[in-house]
Amino acid sequence: MILDVLFPNRCIHCNRIIDSEILVCDLCFNQVHFTHYDYFGNNPIKEKCSLFFPIENAFALIHFEEESLSRQIIHDLKYRSREKTGKVLAEWTTERLDFKGNKPDLLVSVPLHRKKLKERGYNQLHLFTEALSEFYNIPFDHELVRRNHYSKAQALKDKKHRLETVSTFSITRPLTEKHILVIDDVFTTGNTVSSVAWEILNAGNNKVSVLVMAEDV
Ligand SMILES: [Zn+2]
Repeated sequence: MILDVLFPNRCIHCNRIIDSEILVCDLCFNQVHFTHYDYFGNNPIKEKCSLFFPIENAFALIHFEEESLSRQIIHDLKYRSREKTGKVLAEWTTERLDFKGNKPDLLVSVPLHRKKLKERGYNQLHLFTEALSEFYNIPFDHELVRRNHYSKAQALKDKKHRLETVSTFSITRPLTEKHILVIDDVFTTGNTVSSVAWEILNAGNNKVSVLVMAEDV
C-alpha cells in the first residue's frame, strides 16, 4: 500500500495517475483500437489462417498500428516488465469475446524457448492465458507445446540440417479429439500460429481456433 503512495500507477500513455489495477486512463482508453471481430464469423485473422491450416474460429483484440497506443501496450508487456498488462488485456478480451456455449477444450499459448524465458523472466502470454482460463472456466496447458529453436542466428548456423530434422514446435504428450485455442500476442504473417496449429492437428483428430492480442495489418 505504501508503495502505491510512493510510486502511484500511471497511465502508460499520458502519465496521469490512475487506479493500480488498470493500464490507461479513461481518456486514453478511447484511443485503444479494438477490432470488434466476430469470433464465429469471417474476419481477417480467420481468412489469413485459413490459407495455412483448417481453422475453426479466430479473434484479435486490438489493431497494432505504427505509433499507436495498442503498440505501446504490447511493447510494455513484452519488453518493459509489465507482465500484469496481460491481465488487463485478458479483462478487455472477456468483455468482447463470448464463446456462446461453444468453448474450446484447452487454452495453449505460444511458448518461448526456455533460454528466452530465462532472459525475460516471464512469458508475456502466461498471465493473459491464466486470467482467461479462470474467467471462461477452460483449462490451460503451458507445457503442451514446446519451442525447439532459440534464435534465428542459431537456426541459421545449421539451417539446412534443422529444416530437415526439427520443426519449430513440438507436442509433448498425446492429444486427440480436442478443440484447442492457440493464443499469441501479435499476429503478423500467421507463420507462428500456423506452425503450432499443424503440430496440434497432426497429433490427432483435433481442432484449432486462434486468439491473438493484436493484429498487425
Ligand atoms: Zn492517459
